[in-house]
Amino acid sequence: MNTISFQNQAPTPSKIICVGRNYANHAKELNNDIPSEPVIFLKPNSAISQELHTQPNEEIHFETEIALLIRQGHVVGAGIGMDLTKRTIQTQLKAKGLPWEKSKAFDGSAVFTPFVPIQSIDNLALSLHINNELRQQGHVNEMLFSPSAIIQDIQKFMSLNDNDIIMTGTPAGVGKVIQGDVFEVALYLSQDGENTALISHQWIAQ
Ligand code: ZN
Repeated sequence: MNTISFQNQAPTPSKIICVGRNYANHAKELNNDIPSEPVIFLKPNSAISQELHTQPNEEIHFETEIALLIRQGHVVGAGIGMDLTKRTIQTQLKAKGLPWEKSKAFDGSAVFTPFVPIQSIDNLALSLHINNELRQQGHVNEMLFSPSAIIQDIQKFMSLNDNDIIMTGTPAGVGKVIQGDVFEVALYLSQDGENTALISHQWIAQ
C-alpha cells in the first residue's frame, strides 16, 4: 500500500475523498454549474504518489488543492495535493454521464507533499508557481463548501477512516503538466494580508 509523509510517520490512507467544483472561478472555467451540494469522487490508495509524472500518450492536467489528513473524524494535518486529471477522457465521460475513475483515479493521479500538523483549518491558502510564474492560488474562504461542511456531507454516507485524505477542490488556473516544468507549491496561513508559510515544495514534472 502507498503511504504519505506526516511527522516522521508514513500513514496509509485507505482512500482519498475529492471535492469537485468547490471554487466558483474553477467551475466557471470548465463551464460547470455551481453545485448545490458538494460534488464527491474518490481516488484509491493506489493513486498516491510523491512524484509528478506525465504520460506518453495522454495529456495530464494539474489541479492544485489543499489536502486534509483526517483522524478520528477531525483534521489533524494539511498538505498540498495535485489532483491529476486526464481532461479529454473526463470530458467524454461527463458527456455520457459515466463515472470519472478512468480520468481521475489512475496510478500516480494523487500527488502529495509531506503533511504538517495544523491547529485550525481557518485561513489556509495555497499557491502554485510553474517555472516561477503564478498559476493558481486559493483560500479556504473562497470555497463554496468549507472543510467542515465537506466532512459533514461525507459522513452522511461514508465513514472517514483514520489517515484518509480529503482534497478540497481546485481554484481556477488548471492546465497541462509538461515534462521538465518546475512546479512549486505552497501551503500557508493567510490572514489580514499576513502570510505564514507552512509548506513549500517543488516537483519537476517527469
Ligand atoms: Zn480536483
